[in-house]
Amino acid sequence: MEISKVGVVGAGQMGNGIAHVLALAGYKVLMNDISQESLDNAIEIIQGNLDRQVSREKITAEERDAAMANISTTLTLTDLGPSDLIIEAATERETVKTAIFEDLLPHLLPHTILTSNTSSISITRLASRTDRPEKFMGFHFMNPVPIMQLVELIRGIATDRETYDACMAVVDKLGKTAASAEDFPAFIVNRILMPMINEAVYTLYEGVGSVKSIDQSLKLGANHPMGPLELADFIGLDTCLAIMNVLHDGLADTKYRPCPLLTKYVEAGWLGRKSQRGFYDYRQDPPVPTR
Ligand code: NAD
Repeated sequence: MEISKVGVVGAGQMGNGIAHVLALAGYKVLMNDISQESLDNAIEIIQGNLDRQVSREKITAEERDAAMANISTTLTLTDLGPSDLIIEAATERETVKTAIFEDLLPHLLPHTILTSNTSSISITRLASRTDRPEKFMGFHFMNPVPIMQLVELIRGIATDRETYDACMAVVDKLGKTAASAEDFPAFIVNRILMPMINEAVYTLYEGVGSVKSIDQSLKLGANHPMGPLELADFIGLDTCLAIMNVLHDGLADTKYRPCPLLTKYVEAGWLGRKSQRGFYDYRQDPPVPTR
């Protein structure tokens, strides 16, 4: 199946990155959000990121201009109906995602493939509420999308081969690499990464090491480019906690229980970089550990 028109729902940090890479690969992209401000910001961010790629000689000015010409925006979700592929990247709340798919259904083409960029919500459950569970799957990009090489492709229980192959062809055309995952809580990357981050927080909580010694240990001792606590601040501590809760609830195993110290940071509103404070305080340069 040939895909040329792609609808992207949600123009936040993931949605704008997804629109960026699709447009650069030659897809016609129509991006939707409930907020005009988000759409305007997304266009500004994509333009800025493409400009940076031109100045670093990763792409030419012509490629940048062609990519920008491939992107349009709309506040009307149903305008995305005549797309070959829809990638939903709206807020991580199941009721939001379900409502989006419900509103879209009467306007879709018979062949339209529906996908979600969700980090944790069950693909099978989202698919079961549509008229096409066989044409529904998880299309999970990593953040920041233009830089990260991996895409996880997640098959729901009913996803058919044709849908999987069509999405795999898109990943190939983007020049990215797909990892195939079955639909279980947090898929592959977050299933492995989040318990490691949670264990780093336990190591801090139990006083085994300080923020500095824990991050330094994994950077210098395991060759990780970032320490686990620094990485948690980058991802957002609220997101880390939400994914640990999905693992804990979905797999019903106490080994996934979120560290009480992680919960405490989230309750304090110390969410990491985005709120200026997490395991480090970013109001100072260089950032200072908070424990
Ligand atoms: P974000 O908060 O930056 O953006 C979400 C956008 O969705 C906002 O612009 C919001 O206005 C919009 N939105 C909300 N309801 C909507 C609706 N009904 N219709 C259209 N737009 C709507 O969030 P994000 O970080 O871009 O995350 C989006 C999705 O990507 C989530 O499912 C998240 O789990 C997933 N994801 C996030 C990351 C990450 O590191 N942030 C990585 C991989 C996947």
